Amino acid sequence: MQILPYKKEHHEFRKRLREFCKKEVIPNIPMWEQQKLVPKEVWQHMGRSGFLCPTVDKRYGGLGGDFLYSVILAEEIAYTNHSGLFASLHSDVVVPYIVSYGSEEIKQKYLPGCVKGDIITAVAMTEPDAGSDLSSIKTIAQDQGDYFVLNGSKTFISNGINCDLVVVAARDPDIEDPYKAMSLYLVEDGTEGFNKGNKLDKMGMHSQDTAELFFVNCKIPKKNILGQKTMVFLC
Ligand SMILES: Cc1cc2nc3c(=O)[nH]c(=O)nc-3n(C[C@H](O)[C@H](O)[C@H](O)COP(=O)(O)OP(=O)(O)OC[C@H]3O[C@@H](n4cnc5c(N)ncnc54)[C@H](O)[C@@H]3O)c2cc1C
Repeated sequence: MQILPYKKEHHEFRKRLREFCKKEVIPNIPMWEQQKLVPKEVWQHMGRSGFLCPTVDKRYGGLGGDFLYSVILAEEIAYTNHSGLFASLHSDVVVPYIVSYGSEEIKQKYLPGCVKGDIITAVAMTEPDAGSDLSSIKTIAQDQGDYFVLNGSKTFISNGINCDLVVVAARDPDIEDPYKAMSLYLVEDGTEGFNKGNKLDKMGMHSQDTAELFFVNCKIPKKNILGQKTMVFLC
């Protein structure tokens, strides 16, 4: 019985994606698990085949699909029985921050690459001493005129080694109330002061490149804030 209202185009998307997974994903999983990484080219292949960020608007190169496409993406990756290729974190968790809160300039700059698989994203909230209680994060973003300067560290970050762009939660050190101090910032790989740590060893999910990230006097442009300053706990 079909519970969700899939249409013909959803079924076609699923069929093509399942075929892609059968050919390009499943045979390579043992190798990726051993290498503890999914090669970036796989992301590009997946993106260019139209399977990443299916809900992103056509203006930015996406399919402009509804949420059922995201459901299909999550299901078909789950059927492959591995979690290294964390396409749904990219497509349905991180990229939606940019879609919902990025300025038009930011959307035009990053979304086409996210759809094509040239930009792999991550979200960095958890810290060594702040997991469930996000309000206790210590990473700061100091407002310095034209820039924000980030200092702090994050841990357990999925796609942490492969990521080209990270949504980072950080607090304004000048605001005392932790619930009002936090904002989200975009940091590009290659920015001075942004360093990736080691891949973390885990009990499972070996091909998922979960890692630590470090920010040391990491200067990012003012426009890289997502949404209104300090809105994280207020929306
Ligand atoms: C494989 C993996 C991938 C991850 N990917 C990401 C990522 O991409 N980005 C990111 O930001 N984070 C990521 N995380 C981190 C994840 O979000 C945190 O592990 C999670 O928020 C829990 O935090 P913690 O591990 O510090 O546990 P803690 O907060 O220390 O919690 C430990 C235990 O105590 C319980 N507990 C905590 N507070 C209370 C309370 N007040 N009352 C009762 N019980 C409580 C919790 O339920 C839990 O069982 C990842 C983690 C893993 C393991």
